[in-house]
Amino acid sequence: MSTVCIDKLTKRYDAQDEPALRSLSLDIAEGEFLVLVGPSGCGKSTALKLIAGLEDVSDGTVSIGETVVNDYASRDRDIAMVFQNYALYPHMTVYENIAFPMSIARRPRAEIDAAVKDVARTLQLEALLGRKPAHLSGGQRQRVAMGRALIRRPSVFLMDEPLSNLDAKLRVQMRSEIAQIQRRLKVTTIYVTHDQVEAMTMGDRVALMRKGVLQQVDTPDTLYHRPANTFVASFIGSPAMNLFRAQLTQSEDAQMMVTFGDQTLAVTDRARDRHPGLRTLTGDAVIVGIRPEDIEDAGLVGDAAPSWKIRAEVKLVESLGSDHMTHLRIDAEQVFDTDDDTGDVAPDKSVCIARFGARSTVRAGQTATAVVQCDWLHFFDPKTGEALSKTAQPPGKDP
Ligand code: ADP
Repeated sequence: MSTVCIDKLTKRYDAQDEPALRSLSLDIAEGEFLVLVGPSGCGKSTALKLIAGLEDVSDGTVSIGETVVNDYASRDRDIAMVFQNYALYPHMTVYENIAFPMSIARRPRAEIDAAVKDVARTLQLEALLGRKPAHLSGGQRQRVAMGRALIRRPSVFLMDEPLSNLDAKLRVQMRSEIAQIQRRLKVTTIYVTHDQVEAMTMGDRVALMRKGVLQQVDTPDTLYHRPANTFVASFIGSPAMNLFRAQLTQSEDAQMMVTFGDQTLAVTDRARDRHPGLRTLTGDAVIVGIRPEDIEDAGLVGDAAPSWKIRAEVKLVESLGSDHMTHLRIDAEQVFDTDDDTGDVAPDKSVCIARFGARSTVRAGQTATAVVQCDWLHFFDPKTGEALSKTAQPPGKDP
């Protein structure tokens, strides 16, 4: 086990104008599971390769424990890696595959045997030690690849999309297995994925990147409930947070309101307390964010104040059984802060997705009334996309 400290890490590939990684700084604690996540091309694999010593650093430092390892070869960094394409040796048994790193290091046979059995126990591979890879399932092969990495008892585990070759069901199973093994062994782990669900379910902390720049690093809950900007808000959560360009207004009784298109909602005291940045905002333009689960079919909840309701035409209902993803037509400028169309406004696509409960009877073509949890509205600066909520508290805790 070791800490990993990366300080102002930058990587410029020869063929590139823009750096693949810009001044990334992260401190990963001993035994921590840190996930690097972001869309394709955001620089997460590059970061991992720099930590692994597979690419040269352009600027900045990588430290493992107390040691700056920039000039150390990969094999001298006391790390182990598991990649998407984990090539096992097809002619060797599971036992021989796991033993391989120790065999080539010419360790004594008894020591190898004890280590293989120990790793096999951890990964529940004991019954499969005599098999060849061709006779294993995808998940079992993945576990053997992990075993081969684990047997070296590395200080740091680096994993790059290790589950992306598995089918959906196995991925779900393996992600909880890997997370449990990591917690049991407490090996400092850095895990790269483009999948926000993997990131949220596996990581102690999640570092979300975009175009080589770190956007936010924090616990999964904090990323979800207190996104630092509209990009984080859009990336974490499925369906994504609804984002609209909006105006702050005041009702006749001096209540702060937010208007987007033909809808107006209350900015409650609680929402205001969660967004101290609202006070320092210049002008009255904001981006308002509403999570789908904060919009419920009014027919399923008790009475709510009119200022907590929206009425809108239903364009589509996607029933998942447990939830009805209800697409409401909102005549407002929607904000899409993704890598493909940064900040693009698509008024004709003005849809607000609500997660209505299983008992909702609302159907496409109807006009639905929905209750919005106005305490949990999100607000962002329309100029910068930065959250106005730096000091907000996650739900359940009073602001
Ligand atoms: P990610 O893992 O997030 O998908 P990468 O770290 O692989 O992203 O890549 C980041 C950027 O660097 C991309 O624009 C990619 O095309 C570029 N890149 C990656 N490897 C190389 C390389 N060896 N030479 C030149 N450009 C590269």
